[in-house]
Amino acid sequence: MKKHFNILLVLLLTFSLGSCSGKIDSSKNVEITIIHFNDFHSKIKEFRTSRKDKNKSAGISRVVALIKQLKKQNKNSIVMMAGDMIQGSPFSTLKKGSVSFSLFNNVIDYLVVGNHEFDYGLKNLNHLVKSAGFKTITSNVYYKNSNQPLTKYRQDIINMQGIKVGIFGLTTTTTPETTLPANVVKLRFEDEITTANNMVKNLKAAKCNVIIALTHLGFDRDKILANKVKGINVIIGGHSHTKVEKGQMVNNTMVAQARHNGEYLGVVKITYNTGVKKIVKIQAKLVKVTHDIEKDAVTLKSVKQIEKVVMSGLDKRVGISKTDLISTRKAESNIGDLIADIIKKRSNVDVALVNSGGIRANILKGTVKHVHVLKVLPFGNTISVFNMKGKNLLKVFEKSATKVGAGAFMQVSRGVKYIVKNNKLVSVKINGKDIEPNKTYKIATSNFLASGGDGYSEFKAVANKVDTGNLISTAVTNYFKMKKIINVVKAGRIKIE
Ligand SMILES: [Zn+2]
Repeated sequence: MKKHFNILLVLLLTFSLGSCSGKIDSSKNVEITIIHFNDFHSKIKEFRTSRKDKNKSAGISRVVALIKQLKKQNKNSIVMMAGDMIQGSPFSTLKKGSVSFSLFNNVIDYLVVGNHEFDYGLKNLNHLVKSAGFKTITSNVYYKNSNQPLTKYRQDIINMQGIKVGIFGLTTTTTPETTLPANVVKLRFEDEITTANNMVKNLKAAKCNVIIALTHLGFDRDKILANKVKGINVIIGGHSHTKVEKGQMVNNTMVAQARHNGEYLGVVKITYNTGVKKIVKIQAKLVKVTHDIEKDAVTLKSVKQIEKVVMSGLDKRVGISKTDLISTRKAESNIGDLIADIIKKRSNVDVALVNSGGIRANILKGTVKHVHVLKVLPFGNTISVFNMKGKNLLKVFEKSATKVGAGAFMQVSRGVKYIVKNNKLVSVKINGKDIEPNKTYKIATSNFLASGGDGYSEFKAVANKVDTGNLISTAVTNYFKMKKIINVVKAGRIKIE
């Protein structure tokens, strides 16, 4: 019975598609273009997008220039930013995200709230949203006590040449794990799929011809969304920093994402035919923000002005050090002890590990300025937290022992003691005890090491790592501000015989 039904269905579908395609009058095609990017992370200034690059590319002045150019080329265009606009550069740290928000004023049309939008607190986010010259949208975040939606827009409908385009937004429900709990304690994040189903229902009821979900969930979640929720035509996503060259059709939904840091803009073209009253084609591609794109003059001028202010912020005192904080790759360093301890305290773990090569400068005793901390930690690395079996953690220490003198040599947090002789691990103790091979340890380290940097494949192999998005440099700055005066001496954690 079921088989017969399926055959019938196939026949019906074939017939209906066949009969429609025969009638499509292309003069009744209307093209709608979505220009999109995601996870910009306050990359205001141009940079080298890979080590092989001779020229610096990207940067907000070029991103804006390319958006303007694409807008000019495409009549019905919508510019969308799929979240994590801020966090990740000194501009963001010092101006709490306001630089990206203000420079994209009147350039983008919609921003979905990403997890990092909460990083400077809810009050700050509300301020950014209020002052923004674009619509901030999310459909699944509410205030716990009042049930009010976080943003003014849970959905929006725009009319383009008579075609109704419905837009809604989704913010990852994992946000409370990646930002400080205090930032989101007042909020409730509702299930993504349930919300999407409701939003599609609403937008269909409002007779939308095209439905777009602007999401900050990650590519895998976006594909699940496409599979579980019928009726979304395009998902513009972010969060996983995935480079989806030509989009991916999943269950009749185009899923797109444009890597990160403003390195690419995505372009999705939706062709709607007003004769047959449906979408007849969707195409997606990425356009690189190359070095030869002429920078937008107005934006560039603003960047230069803001840079001066940011630089003066870098000159601000964060605390005083009673000792010289000196980095070395050949032995334990007091600055290594300090940073590892700060990471450990910040993330509530058993062990924090810092590669000596990740510490790029010394801090001399006396006044410590913000710029000094950023010189020590210039990479914008964040803290990653994960669980690891003792036997694998032991391998990490064995590897570190072979790296004395190299950047991969590990500095360790309070409670860890290890002895190295002739580049071999002699012993390692955690809180006075040997590492138990089958015990699970909670570890914190930089996102760089967590992703296998410096050859630590043991970290790379760990499943379910959480990149907290918290900059190590910010944790250190905050520690200085809290303590005011610090006095760090080498604690005798590493012995090289
Ligand atoms: Zn994110």
